[in-house]
Amino acid sequence: MKTIKLYDEMPYSTDFKATVIEVNKNQIILDQTLFFPEEGGQECDLGTINDIPVKDVQIKDDVIIHYVKKHHLQVGDTIEGHIDWKRRYSFMQNHTGEHLLSGIVHSMYGYDNVSFHLNSEEGQVEYDGDIKDIDLIEEKVNQAIYENKEVHCFYPDDLESISYRSKKEIEGKVRIVEIKDYDICACCAPHVKRTGELGVFKIIKVIHTTRGTRFIFLFGERAYHRFKDDFDHLESLYHLFSSNNQTLVKQVNKMYEEKTALEVKYAQLEKEHMLSLCDHAYLFVEDCLPVNQREVTNHLVHVYGTGGVFVGNDEKGYRYVIGSANNALDILTQLKSLRSKGGGSKEMIQGFTPASKTELLKALS
Ligand SMILES: [Zn+2]
Repeated sequence: MKTIKLYDEMPYSTDFKATVIEVNKNQIILDQTLFFPEEGGQECDLGTINDIPVKDVQIKDDVIIHYVKKHHLQVGDTIEGHIDWKRRYSFMQNHTGEHLLSGIVHSMYGYDNVSFHLNSEEGQVEYDGDIKDIDLIEEKVNQAIYENKEVHCFYPDDLESISYRSKKEIEGKVRIVEIKDYDICACCAPHVKRTGELGVFKIIKVIHTTRGTRFIFLFGERAYHRFKDDFDHLESLYHLFSSNNQTLVKQVNKMYEEKTALEVKYAQLEKEHMLSLCDHAYLFVEDCLPVNQREVTNHLVHVYGTGGVFVGNDEKGYRYVIGSANNALDILTQLKSLRSKGGGSKEMIQGFTPASKTELLKALS
């Protein structure tokens, strides 16, 4: 027996009564339900049946199956169901929002929605064409929200006379969702009554795919929370940089440029210092930049024929780079006999050794 979909007619209701008509281990089937199942790219409603948490809701051949954990429900029981309204309303805002967005994209470019997914964090929709005017789309969608257009869900008698967007061929009775002046589309999900309820819209990521363009988007409370989070982060940055929304980017860029200049200067000074310490084919230092380890090794090879730089100390071990005008791989064999790891070519080897400075100098002399 098909489950009566109470959410079709009562998308704003949270509580309902129903009769258990089938129990199969942890699967409960009711004569009617407010629980929207996972369908059409949207995750299912959550909530309780007689205070027992509903973990998942699926639909098969128009029968809605509620998955619960431990329960004592029996066929014939009258139950009280309750759905998590915060989750449901967020889904309604973001699903109606996706219809509005897709209607606007379709009217602007003629592109179709080729995939849609809505979870409790964000919505994702993909269109079969390249879209670049992101600002314009956001502006139009937000404008349609201010206009507070009516959203009408119905099962039409004369479907053939209605021109609507649809992702796939639908079997059985087709439910139409119309956003006045913006979109007509087939859909089974609960929707809000007016576009004003969508609050605010923001695309948070644009991904250009092989099929076209994918948007990750937020409507309503989700968008507000994202704005608030971002605003709080920005406030911390303004404080940190003693700046404001006009000057922050300029100040961060300036700091980045100064940092890069200091890094170049530091590398130069470190190299000069390391070169001043080179009185032997092998130099041991506590720490240095990798680029200087290589450059000073090149210098040592030039002066001594074979040489290298060991970075570290006896306690932690050393990362080494050694070069040779002859064959550095011979030195690698010697180092490996001291439990060292590494690899390279005839010209240069590198790796790590746990051996002490004394052991290394003895082996390499
Ligand atoms: Zn839909």
